Amino acid sequence: MYSEFDREVGEMRVEQERQARIDAARAELTKTGRDACECGATISPARRRAYPSATRCLECQEIVEKEAYLK
Ligand SMILES: [Zn+2]
Repeated sequence: MYSEFDREVGEMRVEQERQARIDAARAELTKTGRDACECGATISPARRRAYPSATRCLECQEIVEKEAYLK
């Protein structure tokens, strides 16, 4: 049965999920990337400005994205 209590619990859950998403987005934004890719190439300053959390050079990123797309 639908009750006032269920409604409040539901709202609380929505609020918690919203907060969790905000926290995750914030963590993503403040996450610092690296200057060097895992392949050893230097990640260009322009790329790092555009994607501060980048950990791969453009070439590796393209490979990873292509693989993800093919899956
Ligand atoms: Zn690379």
